[in-house]
Formats: sequence, C-alpha cells, structure tokens
Amino acid sequence: MTQAKTAFVTGITGQDGSFLADLLLEKGYRVVGLVRRSTNYDYPNIRHLIGKVTLEYGDLIDSDCLNSLIAQYQPDEVYHIAAQSVPADSWKQPIVTAEITGVGTVRMLEAVRRHKPDAKFYQATSREIFGGVEQEVCDENTPFFANNPYGIAKQYAHLMMMNYRESYGLFACAGILFNHESERRSLHFVTRKVTMAAACIKLGIAHPPLNELGEPLVADGKLKIGNLDAVRDWGYAKEYVEAMWLMLQNDKPQDYVIATNTCFTVRDLCRVAFEAAGLNWEDHVVSDQRFHRPTEIAASRGDYGRAKRDLGWEPKTSFEDLIRLMVDYDLRLLSER
Ligand code: NAP
Repeated sequence: MTQAKTAFVTGITGQDGSFLADLLLEKGYRVVGLVRRSTNYDYPNIRHLIGKVTLEYGDLIDSDCLNSLIAQYQPDEVYHIAAQSVPADSWKQPIVTAEITGVGTVRMLEAVRRHKPDAKFYQATSREIFGGVEQEVCDENTPFFANNPYGIAKQYAHLMMMNYRESYGLFACAGILFNHESERRSLHFVTRKVTMAAACIKLGIAHPPLNELGEPLVADGKLKIGNLDAVRDWGYAKEYVEAMWLMLQNDKPQDYVIATNTCFTVRDLCRVAFEAAGLNWEDHVVSDQRFHRPTEIAASRGDYGRAKRDLGWEPKTSFEDLIRLMVDYDLRLLSER
C-alpha cells in the first residue's frame, strides 16, 4: 500500500486554505494546517474539518515554529496561502503587511530549504503585483508594478520565491490569482459585504454584522462601500484551489495566471446581488469616500491561457452565478440564526 502524501497548508482557516484542505482530503492526503493563536477558538471555515486534519499553532512571524513544523511533518507539498490578505487594510498596517505577507513567505521558504528541500512549494501570489499596469489583459509576461502596500509585499514574496527556485533549485511556483470569492469570503472584501448586506436588508435583520470601522454593515437600509466604478476579474475560489494543486503535480515548477478573463464593476456586483435578493441596489447602496482606496489598481482581466494549455484548468462558474450563490448562502445563514 502506498503511503498518503502529506500536505502542509498555511492559512487553512481562510477562504482558500479551507477549500484547498477539502480538496486535498478528497484526494487522500494527510493535511497539516497552520493556525495562528487567537483568543477565540471558532474557525467557521474549517468547523467541518475538525478531526480530519491536523492543526498546529504557529505564526508567520515566528521562524522557529515554522522550522520545527516542517522538520517534524516532512511534507511532500507545502501550500503557502496565509497572508495579511486585505489590500484595503494594508495602508493602515503597512509594516504588519510587509512582515506577514512579504517576509513571512521568506520564513516559509527558509524552513523548506533547511528541512525539506525536495518538498513542492506553492506561493499565493496576487494580481495586485500588476497594480497600476494599464493593460486590458495581463498574463505571466506582464511586468510587475504593484501600487499598494499589499501588492508590494506580494511582489517581494513572489520575487523571493523565484529567487529560491533559481538559487537553490527548490520546486517553488506561484499562482498569480485574480480576485476569487465564495460563501467563505471574509466580510473585509466588497463582494461579501454586498451579498451579506443584500441578505440583511431582505430579511430585515435588526443587528447586522459590523464592518471594518466597527459600524453596522447596514444602517437605515443602506450599505456604504467604496468606489462603484472599480473593476475586477472575479472567479469562484473553490475552482481556483484546484489550479493550486495541479501546479504542484507538474514536472517542472512554473507560474500561472488564474482568472476568468472577464471583468465587472462594483456597480455590476451590487446590481446582481440585490436582484438576487429581489431588491433594487440603487435604493440601498451608497458610495462613501471613507472606503475608497488611496490608489486604485488598473482595470485588467487575466489571461489564463497557459493554465488551460498546461494544466487543463479553466473557470466554470460565471460572475452572475457566483454572486447569486453567495446571496443564497447569506440568506440561508441569516435565516438559521
Ligand atoms: P483569507 O481568507 O484572508 O485567509 C488568510 C489566512 O491567512 C487566514 O487563515 C489567516 O488566519 C492567515 N494568517 C494571517 N496572518 C497570519 C499569520 N501571521 N500567521 C499565520 N497565519 C496567518 O485569504 P484568502 O482569500 O483565502 O487568500 C489566500 C491567499 O491568496 C492570501 O495569501 C491572499 O493574499 C492570496 N490571494 C487572494 C486572492 C483572493 O481574491 N482571494 C487573490 C490573490 C491572492 P486567521 O483566520 O487567523 O485570520
């Protein structure tokens, strides 16, 4: 009998890490997930995985713990998913973002180089490394031009991952992922704010969840968000984690853009979400300067042609279906409270 492969997943409590853990378990892996210590023990995205995965406390600021965990578990595959992942928050916390999203990746690369140099390493790069590049469609050859503290930290992490691949021969590669969303998306992100607000208004929820400023997400039937003209290429997270796994099954380490090659505005997002709840978004959504980013990324779509050719990967869920799926989920979630 062949022994199950071991996968080490950072960021397992987040959106992508939890979907990836689901996929790896289906494929018969032993999954070890890094969880950072918190005062609250509730991990809603992985509640269903308790007892099926091994959880270890650790933090990306702590090299010692990362080194001992890689030495102890000797993983075949390392999926480095964890980060300070919210671009909008990165202006308020530029140093934390650099420390976790940037240098945290180097700590993971070092732990692998020292203790399991033949492990395959996946790096969660973001399309934010293209930042201000004014190009309708971006691919793996697009120059990097990050224009916010999060994107700059991801660009540094990406370059370090490439450097470890070239300098030490690590099997290290990155998915350059465009925005991807789901029912597990945190409320820090505009898609989930909009779908949750539509559901709260539809159901007349008296105490909606709070936004990042500590205010009710919905007050007097209104949702306050940032730039309605911002444009994104949005896909379904559950499909994007399949691409991560496929990348590590390659013979050679290679980076891939993962996207849908379509794009929509935040205004489109509001229209589709509120329509799904039987409401008119224009009655309920207000653009508020406090939620605008100091710099906006350029409006670009991602060309996933290389992933389709080499990995056989392509997106399946349309933008409209994705947003409807999230609204349906939030309506169910709030109805069950
Ligand atoms: P997410 O839901 O915010 O998950 C982030 C994860 O990182 C959480 O598990 C979080 O733990 C963990 N984490 C944060 N700081 C940590 C630290 N100091 N030590 C250990 N763990 C820490 O993000 P996501 O949407 O799944 O994204 C996954 C990765 O892909 C991130 O690197 C993100 O930057 C990148 N990415 C995402 C997108 C997207 O559209 N979703 C696009 C491109 C790239 P807690 O649960 O304790 O907070």
